[in-house]
Amino acid sequence: MSLINCPSCHKKISDKASICPSCQFSFNQDESELDRLKVLNYRKYRDTQYLFKMLSFASIAITLFGVVPMLWDYLKALDYGFNVSLANHWGIYPVMAGFAMYVVIRVLMLYAKRRYQSTKLEQK
Ligand SMILES: [Zn+2]
Repeated sequence: MSLINCPSCHKKISDKASICPSCQFSFNQDESELDRLKVLNYRKYRDTQYLFKMLSFASIAITLFGVVPMLWDYLKALDYGFNVSLANHWGIYPVMAGFAMYVVIRVLMLYAKRRYQSTKLEQK
């Protein structure tokens, strides 16, 4: 016996259960109902992944917004022979924020993928 996610409410239930104890979702429904849920689940998954993709592009843009002026000032300072500390540059904030955002989005994407793949719908 193993635990799977209910396709309807996503709570953990036994793979031997024919009815979800929390939302009463039944695995003995006719095929059309299961197919309908399968499509709904897929659409939800696809929309979530699309949103995450857009957000990760945004986080890359935020990172570049910090990286470009940092590089620019660095090269300018090199030209003049200054010693520059990039850690004190304001560009470090968008770089860190963008990078942190990117990592968080990637983790959430992985989590959403796992959740989608662990629904029981594929087994019946
Ligand atoms: Zn359920």
